[in-house]
Amino acid sequence: MRIQKVIIVGAGPSGLILGLLLSKQGIQVELLDAGAELDKQPRAAHYASPAAYELARAGVLEDVKARGFLPQSFAWRKLDTTFVAGLNHAALPPDYPYKMVVLPLDRLGKLLCEHIQRQPTAEVKWSHKVVRIGQDQEQAWVEIETPTGLQRSDADYVIGCDGANSTVRQELFGPEYPGETLNAQIIATNVYYDFDRYGYWDSNSIIHPKNWYMAARITTDGLYRVSYGDIPGLSREEYLARQPQRYEEILPGNPKPEEYRITNISPYRLQQRCAPSFRVGKILLAADAAHLCNPFGGLGLTGGIADVGNLFDALMGIHKDLADDAILDKYSEVRKRIWAETIDPMSRENFRRLHDQDPDKARENDEFFQLCVKSETDSELAKELALGLDVLRHDMTQYYTK
Ligand SMILES: Cc1cc2nc3c(=O)[nH]c(=O)nc-3n(C[C@H](O)[C@H](O)[C@H](O)COP(=O)(O)OP(=O)(O)OC[C@H]3O[C@@H](n4cnc5c(N)ncnc54)[C@H](O)[C@@H]3O)c2cc1C
Repeated sequence: MRIQKVIIVGAGPSGLILGLLLSKQGIQVELLDAGAELDKQPRAAHYASPAAYELARAGVLEDVKARGFLPQSFAWRKLDTTFVAGLNHAALPPDYPYKMVVLPLDRLGKLLCEHIQRQPTAEVKWSHKVVRIGQDQEQAWVEIETPTGLQRSDADYVIGCDGANSTVRQELFGPEYPGETLNAQIIATNVYYDFDRYGYWDSNSIIHPKNWYMAARITTDGLYRVSYGDIPGLSREEYLARQPQRYEEILPGNPKPEEYRITNISPYRLQQRCAPSFRVGKILLAADAAHLCNPFGGLGLTGGIADVGNLFDALMGIHKDLADDAILDKYSEVRKRIWAETIDPMSRENFRRLHDQDPDKARENDEFFQLCVKSETDSELAKELALGLDVLRHDMTQYYTK
C-alpha cells in the first residue's frame, strides 16, 4: 500500500524527527501542535547512540554536533565532590559516528524545524490542538481546534507524538496512563556556575540520601543542567522560593545567588508509565505519548527517538510493499518490551543509585560501579559500557516479508 499522507500530532522532538524521516521519502506529513511555538522548558539534552543513529538517518546529526558537543566523561561523586566511579567515552573509536551528543531540547527543536521547513511534503501547523480522533476502514482522522475554528483532517495514519498528556492516547485508552508516579520531586534548572573550579567532569551525579543531584554541562559556553531533589508535595512557587537555599546546601562552594545565573527552572514529578498498546488500527503512539521514565540516565527521549526510527521502518515496509500492516503490531510489541525489560528497570536503578545507598561504600558495593572501576583498565569493557544503551535499538526490517 502506498502511504500518501500521515498526520503527526505533536511537533516536539519525536514528532519532528518522524516528520523529517517520512517527508524525506516523499510522504505528505501534516504536523499539528497545540502550542503557539516550540516548548522552552529545561528537559532533554543528552541523546545516546540509538538516538544519534536516528538523527543521522534524518540528516541532522552533523548539525546537532556542530551546535552541541560530544560529552566524554560521566562521574558519580559524594556530596563533598570526592570521585566514586566514572565512565569515559574516549574509549570509543574516534571515527565511531553515533557517539552520545548533547544539545538542549529547545535548540534541537529549532534545528529540526529549520530542516523540516525545507521539505516540500511537510507542513508544521502551530496553535492546532487535536481534540478528537477516529478511524474507519479507509482512513484515520483528527478534529483540530485552530485559531479560525474547528477543522477536520484525515490521513492513512495518525501518529500521537503529543507527549506525556497525549490526547491521542487518552482518546484510545481513556485518562489512565498505567504505571506510577514516584514519591520524589526534582527541580530541573539550567544554570551558569563555575563547576570547573571543583574538577567536575561533563556529567556528575551526586550520591546522597537527601542532597542527591546531577550537574551536567549542556552547552560549550558553560551552561549546566542541575537537577536536584526536593520535598514532594509543594507548589511550584514554594519550589522556586526554596531554590537558593537548596543550591547553597548541595552545590560545591555553597554558592549565594550572586555567584550563579539561572536561565530556566521547572519542577517535575518522576513517572514510570507505559500505554496498553502503541497501535490501534491506523492510529499509533510513540515517545512520551507511549511511555515515560525518570530522566536519570537520559533514557526518555533516547528511547522515544528509537521508537520513531522503528515506526519509520515499519511504515516504509508498508509503503514500499515489503511488509503488510501486521508490522505495526510488531512495532508495538517490540517497543513495549524494550520499555518493560530495559528502560523502566534501568531508569529506576539509575535514580535509586543516587539516593538509596551509602556513598562511602558505593564504589565497592554497587555492581554498576564495579564495572566502571574495571573499565578503568579494560578498554573493551569501557567501549561496551559507552554503547550500553544500544540495547534500545531494534532492526524492524527483519519483519519485512518480501
Ligand atoms: C528534567 C528532564 C530532563 C530530561 N533529560 C533527558 C535527556 O537528557 N535525554 C533524554 O533522552 N530524555 C530526557 N528527558 C525526557 C525528554 O525530555 C522527553 O522524553 C521528551 O521531551 C519527549 O518528547 P516528545 O516529542 O515525546 O514529547 P514532548 O516534547 O512533550 O512534545 C509533545 C508536543 O505535543 C504537543 N501537543 C500536546 N498535546 C497536543 C494536542 N492535543 N494536539 C496537538 N499537539 C499537542 C505539545 O505542544 C508538544 O509540542 C528529560 C526530561 C526531563 C523532565
